[in-house]
Amino acid sequence: MSDYFKTTPTSDGFFGEFGGSFIPPELQSEMDKITDAYFRICKSHDFITELRSIRKHFQGRPTPVYYCRRLSEQLGAGLYLKREDLNHTGAHKLNHCMGEALLAKYMGKKRLIAETGAGQHGVALATAAAYFGLECEIHMGEVDIAKEHPNVVRMKILGAEVVPVSHGLKTLKEAVDSAFQSYLKDPVNTIYCIGSVVGPHPFPMLVRDFQRVVGIEAREQFEEMTGELPDNVVACVGGGSNAMGIFSAFLGDSCDIYGVEPSGRSYETGEHACSMKFGTPGVIHGFKCMMLQDEKGEPGPVYSVASGLDYPGVGPEHCMLGQQGRVNYVDANDKDAIDAFYRLSRQEGIIPALESAHAVAYAFRLAEEKPRQSILVNLSGRGDKDIDFVVDNYGLPEDE
Ligand SMILES: *Cc1c(COP(=O)(O)O)cnc(C)c1O
Repeated sequence: MSDYFKTTPTSDGFFGEFGGSFIPPELQSEMDKITDAYFRICKSHDFITELRSIRKHFQGRPTPVYYCRRLSEQLGAGLYLKREDLNHTGAHKLNHCMGEALLAKYMGKKRLIAETGAGQHGVALATAAAYFGLECEIHMGEVDIAKEHPNVVRMKILGAEVVPVSHGLKTLKEAVDSAFQSYLKDPVNTIYCIGSVVGPHPFPMLVRDFQRVVGIEAREQFEEMTGELPDNVVACVGGGSNAMGIFSAFLGDSCDIYGVEPSGRSYETGEHACSMKFGTPGVIHGFKCMMLQDEKGEPGPVYSVASGLDYPGVGPEHCMLGQQGRVNYVDANDKDAIDAFYRLSRQEGIIPALESAHAVAYAFRLAEEKPRQSILVNLSGRGDKDIDFVVDNYGLPEDE
């Protein structure tokens, strides 16, 4: 397995036929510089020591693995959660943002730039920028700015500049274009920080590597608690960073691995974001992956109740692992996620992010299909951000 990370991706960023880099030449030369710097810096003693110290003292790592006693009794299976909701800022995203910002510091950059959809990546990156005293510029569509007001306020409190994007549909796609344009104006002082295991090489590799800490910790913790490895490992998949983080530690083992995509409202109306299940190979945001696309090859419309999961593409490593059959890509819909959101809250006292609730929902199904087996779920984030939305749109459940 140690070879896997040396050879995956290839030196030009391919995971099987997926990944690579499909971008204009001026951007390519910047990506090459980031790749070179990453390989040089990530092995240095100073970088490793500093990242370890940040994880421990700033982020509060290691996050625990928690055994769900009440739910396990009800389900007749062993349910365990890797508690990324307890990572600083309440989700796994800070793991790669701190890594990206530390790399920026070692490269002598002064400014971090990114786009954000729902604002989660923007908040995590703004946090990292504040920690290092770097400038931070977050591009966000005006539609999203109106929808995600609390995250916009958070970014501003943390000192980031939020750049409203007012052309086109005024959402994520336009924000990506706007952020890349701004980046190309000053690539010497700036680094573009991608928010998942997506985008051109080296980002799918770099973000995975910074998320591997989740799997390394979880494997060790689970073994210490139970004396064995989990039978099943489950995570939700938007772009795929929290999933790659935990999956990466178990790829060489015999456990069954499940990536859970959001099937939203319905397969039939296309109101979902199941890129692995219904997508076809295509190029989006500078890399090749399984992608939901329209007749023209443009990214198709996507929908999920969890705004962190509604991406029409998916990380190239997932595409490879799916093709190889090593990871099973499955799905849970809005209703499953809402039910799991309330069940985990009421039975264990943990309010999960709606994204993470998709993984929990699938774990409930697995417990029925595979009684008495153990299931390790990556609880990618906490649900405080979702409480008003859930109660306003779905109401409180009737008491049992
Ligand atoms: C952003 C987000 C996700 C989806 O991103 P991945 O890259 O697929 O992990 C999942 N869970 C939470 C809590 C998020 O904020």
